[in-house]
Amino acid sequence: MLRRPSITLRTVVFVTIVCLGLVAIDGWNSWQSRQLHLRQMSVATSNLARAMAQQADDQIKLADTVLIGIVERIESDGAGPIEVARLREFLAQRIAELPQLDGLHVYDEAGNWVANSRQIWPQNLNNADREYFRFHRENTSRRPHVGTPVTSRTSGRSLVPISRRINHADGSFAGVALATIRVDFFGNFFDSLDIGQAGALGLIREDGTMITRRPFNPGMVGRDMRGSELFQAYRSQGPVGTAYIRSAQDGVLRLNSFRRLPNYPLFVAASLSKEEILAPWWRETLWHSAGVVLLVLIVGGVGWRLVKQFQLQIQTEAELRRARDALETLNTTLNTLAMEDGLTGLANRRKFDVTLDAEISRAVRDASTLALIMIDVDCFKQYNDIYGHAAGDECLQKIGRAVAAVAAKRPGDLAARYGGEELAVLLPHTDVQAAVHLAERIRNAVRDLKIPHAAMANGFVTLSAGVEALKPADSSAKSKELIEAADKALYHAKTQGRDRVCAAAHPSVS
Ligand code: GH3
Ligand code: MG
Ligand code: MG
Repeated sequence: MLRRPSITLRTVVFVTIVCLGLVAIDGWNSWQSRQLHLRQMSVATSNLARAMAQQADDQIKLADTVLIGIVERIESDGAGPIEVARLREFLAQRIAELPQLDGLHVYDEAGNWVANSRQIWPQNLNNADREYFRFHRENTSRRPHVGTPVTSRTSGRSLVPISRRINHADGSFAGVALATIRVDFFGNFFDSLDIGQAGALGLIREDGTMITRRPFNPGMVGRDMRGSELFQAYRSQGPVGTAYIRSAQDGVLRLNSFRRLPNYPLFVAASLSKEEILAPWWRETLWHSAGVVLLVLIVGGVGWRLVKQFQLQIQTEAELRRARDALETLNTTLNTLAMEDGLTGLANRRKFDVTLDAEISRAVRDASTLALIMIDVDCFKQYNDIYGHAAGDECLQKIGRAVAAVAAKRPGDLAARYGGEELAVLLPHTDVQAAVHLAERIRNAVRDLKIPHAAMANGFVTLSAGVEALKPADSSAKSKELIEAADKALYHAKTQGRDRVCAAAHPSVS
């Protein structure tokens, strides 16, 4: 049979499961919360990118709308002196309405300055070398062109050129209309967005040229970004996407969301630092963990105390059991002592009296015969006188052992010290003949001990015994009768010369 695990073990297992459960639940919650923070972060960056893309697209569109007007005007009205004068006025009006524009310019097919919003047209300046100019001269497309950032020749500012081609009536190249947006105009909008301490924003041309970024670094304007991981991610994922990228500059891991402008070949990127986004989660987790550790300590402590208490209880129970066993043993010993004769080890007189009464009752019930042998050591007074009282005691012990060895063989038989040097043997279910036979065997056994007794004729200690047996009809006064009859028989044996067995109402049988 399998043993049930102890209560201590069960408590330890239970407390361990509770503690592990607490840790697991908190761990799972923290993990879920972390995922939520990261999802929120992803939503936040993609919203930022959407807002940035929209703002940039709107600004460029505004400039482009003005350009469409200029191109149409020149292509329909021509570029005669009157038209040019009116165009110059038109440009001045437009620039006043649109603060995000740094300037509006018109160049002829050779790159010479025809008109601009600043109302200056020096003869010696030529823009045929500019990238946008070359683009339109070599490209018949009527689409607007967003050029690489340039530094203004007049103001020194960083500008983004937006341009359109102007055609002659036959479709040949007639010049370029140009609007310039201040790079810092995008930067100002970037600055108004909340991106934390380690966030970054960027506006990049689809060919990989950086327009501007936050944090702003003048050296980055116009930088080729094609080798960057961000640009690779944009190229591989398409117009909208996200990517975790570790910055090559500051080593910060950021989640980047990028998005192409709806109408122009540029894209924006918004990135937030993962560490910064997870900072509140870390704080929360730290507090949680501290709470869980405290809880685990409390549960563990309570469990430990319980286990200690159980152990104490088990120990106390074991001690109580031991004490009870000891008491029972002591009780048995006391009982035995109370019923035993201290000198011979035979039953004492008290035990004899109790047993005799019980056996009489049993004999009445069973209608059986109960026999009693009364034994008395011959001339024992003289033995004492000759060998001393101590030797007398020793002699009685030897006789006791001999009697016990012969009599009391059956469970119901009882050999007792009746008093002094008198012994009694009670034999249930035994008739006189059998009792006399046993008495003879006892007598012979003691004689065979050959304990020297100088006062005896044969030189050894001997016994006399009186035997009686009766089949009681009722138990009233039968014990007294039995004893008296046996005693009488004993007396008869004594008077007949000792060292013999006599049965009651019978003369000597040996
Ligand atoms: P008999 O029975 O043969 O007639 O002679 P007896 O000398 O044995 O006479 P009785 O039975 O009257 O004497 C009993 C003696 O046994 C008296 C006492 O000195 C001695 N005796 C009784 N009890 C003890 C005992 O416990 N120890 C010792 N050493 N002697 C005892
Ligand atoms: Mg006597
Ligand atoms: Mg005697």
